[in-house]
Amino acid sequence: MLFGKVLSIVVAAAGLLDGSMDAAMPDKNIDGTMFLVNRQHTVAEQYIPDGLRKTEVYGMSQSMREDAATALEAFFEAAKTEGGVSLSTVSGYRSYSKQSTIYARKKSTTGSTEAADKLVAKPGTSEHQLGLAMDIARKGSSSLTAKFGETEEGKWVYSNCHRYGFIVRYMQGFEEITGYSYEPWHIRYVGVEQATAIYESGVPMETYMSGLKLDTYDYLVHQATNEVLP
Ligand SMILES: [Zn+2]
Repeated sequence: MLFGKVLSIVVAAAGLLDGSMDAAMPDKNIDGTMFLVNRQHTVAEQYIPDGLRKTEVYGMSQSMREDAATALEAFFEAAKTEGGVSLSTVSGYRSYSKQSTIYARKKSTTGSTEAADKLVAKPGTSEHQLGLAMDIARKGSSSLTAKFGETEEGKWVYSNCHRYGFIVRYMQGFEEITGYSYEPWHIRYVGVEQATAIYESGVPMETYMSGLKLDTYDYLVHQATNEVLP
């Protein structure tokens, strides 16, 4: 199992190094679709994506950026018509201040920053702030657990979401790279071309991007903390 994962990283890295993935160079713009956000690469407090709107699908009333919302609607429709499964939204765009509130609450209930850090993302480290992520569940459910990955719905999502531009962002076995536990319910919009390349590479977004071009990776850090923001 572990060997298989290591092997898939090596294979993907080899593909990246010999330039066979050149066609899939990521854009560097925070308003593009490949902006990397994680515990090390944070989003500035003042960043609010342009074009947020409510998604018109079954589930909790949640927002995404226009491009992601449109893709999500097509994806949910395909889940029903092609996959025979029904999905529902649970949590989409999350502002910096919402993240702060959640984090502060967790800090006070657990009594320490260390304990809170293990349970919730520090403000600015959640890609939900990009408006490109959605937590989803089976229709009629709002529970976000690893079990979703074993359900008919979860399996269909994993195998098909790239066709609509999404990736399952936090895969099993890559916790040390992504900084997050396995989250089969969290999908991230990156566009069809990138999503397909990432899905086929079998590696997380971090590995995929760092293999493509290191200075792109560094540029993202710089951009996230200093420039570009209005
Ligand atoms: Zn999420």
